[in-house]
Amino acid sequence: MADLVRFKNTVDGQSCESVSSRWLASVNPYTGEAWAEIPHCDADDASAAIESAHRAFTKGPWATMTATNRGKLLRRLGDLIARDAEKLAAIETRDNGKLYAEMHGQLRYMPEWFYYFGGLADKIEGGVLPIDKPNLFTYTKKEPLGVVVAITPWNSPLLLLTWKLAPALAAGNTIVIKPSEFTSCSTLALMELVKEAGFPDGVINTVTGYGHELGSTLVEHPMVAKVAFTGGDATGAAVYAGAAKHIKHVTLELGGKSPNIVFADANIDDAVKGAISGIFAASGQTCIAGSRLLVQRSVYEEVSQKVVAFAKSARLGNPMEETTQVGPVTTLPQRKKILDYMDVARGEGARCLLGGGTPDDPELAKGWFVEPTIFGDVSNSMRIAREEVFGPILSIIPFEDDEEAVEIANDTIYGLASGVWTSNIRRAFTMADRIRAGTVWVNTYRAVSFMAPFGGYKMSGIGRESGQAAIDEYLQTKSVWINLAEGVANPFVLR
Ligand code: NDP
Repeated sequence: MADLVRFKNTVDGQSCESVSSRWLASVNPYTGEAWAEIPHCDADDASAAIESAHRAFTKGPWATMTATNRGKLLRRLGDLIARDAEKLAAIETRDNGKLYAEMHGQLRYMPEWFYYFGGLADKIEGGVLPIDKPNLFTYTKKEPLGVVVAITPWNSPLLLLTWKLAPALAAGNTIVIKPSEFTSCSTLALMELVKEAGFPDGVINTVTGYGHELGSTLVEHPMVAKVAFTGGDATGAAVYAGAAKHIKHVTLELGGKSPNIVFADANIDDAVKGAISGIFAASGQTCIAGSRLLVQRSVYEEVSQKVVAFAKSARLGNPMEETTQVGPVTTLPQRKKILDYMDVARGEGARCLLGGGTPDDPELAKGWFVEPTIFGDVSNSMRIAREEVFGPILSIIPFEDDEEAVEIANDTIYGLASGVWTSNIRRAFTMADRIRAGTVWVNTYRAVSFMAPFGGYKMSGIGRESGQAAIDEYLQTKSVWINLAEGVANPFVLR
């Protein structure tokens, strides 16, 4: 076996192994072989990282740094990410199997979050209140929360971290990052840039290892003020319950079962591309996957056939190669889960129109590949239409009219994203109003920006990432009352 690359954690500005000196292998999903090692941390490591972040929040240069200088540090980090975009993209592709083409695009765009929130850092303003009582000067301040624990998943480690890191730092918090143990390497590589940018020691710390071993320390530690989590809804619920023990702030970005709705008046070829990008990009391992394709009955056969034909031509292969369109899935347990859902769908009577298993190409044998899979004649009551699979499985569901489209679209415990394909402007706005989801895309799919708030309705989560509102998720408001009068009035009554 080739030598494994070792990535280390950063605590208090120092590069470090775990207290126990144990390591965990990180496996390349395309080769099925370990390529790197990360520290296998336990509760002691998590506590040390939290204490480091707490020291940096309460003492030292970060605590007294001006917001303008905080913003400059963020923008410098953005510049360094832009400089090393190729390197970071390659690490992430090796670690999670996502296409290099996609990762490269993500990494090139990622600095924008640091520029945007770096710019916002010194525009966090309080206000002077025209208070309704005499002889009082009353004003508000917005202050950081304290130590933020950022827990990130394996599907988009750096981007989903950036959505937390940039606003949390801009607001003046300090951070402990816990990436998924499947895909920690790019986060640990980013820490070299954090050091180079000149962030004071302890402001950004990392701890790697298993969520079930570290989770309760990270979420319940009394020095932690907030947990910002992205991942599955079951883990999200556990994090929420743990944080509730000490009334901590949370943002939760959880799963989805997003409807992508094609009306008969749509440009059908565009809608077909939208359906493909909604479910087969990143092998379906995105929280915003348009996994339910709702198609108006009059164009149901045409759309189904075109989507199948398009998906059939998708090239599976080495995610590092430019010509590859679908890479492997990230983890072995995830592949098993996806294959199990194919059996569930068949058992429920869904008609398999494409795929339905693993590819038989010997060149792909070592990798964790799953065929792009499409089920037709799906009813919204089937498990395949109700539960988040997080893989390249599309369920096509027919509907008659607008009323039924809305009913099916909203008949889900989730509400993260949605798509509408129509050439009718009235229908576009009406659907955007009626769909209960945090994002509605019309005649496009899978667009995100540092400027646009992102987050879930219903069980898809709490809070928003990106956009101006995101910084408020990392701030709290203080009211200050200054008495300008001589003496104190009657102490037995409310002033
Ligand atoms: P999880 O939700 O379990 O993992 C997300 C993060 O939480 C990881 O860093 C994980 O660490 C950590 N974690 C796990 N257990 C705890 C805990 N008790 N306390 C605190 N943190 C914890 O996702 P999985 O990897 O298990 O995937 C399960 C399913 O979740 C997927 O099949 C998919 O459906 C969904 N998912 C949704 C995502 C989204 O963006 N909405 C992203 C990822 C998954 P570790 O990996 O070390 O266990």
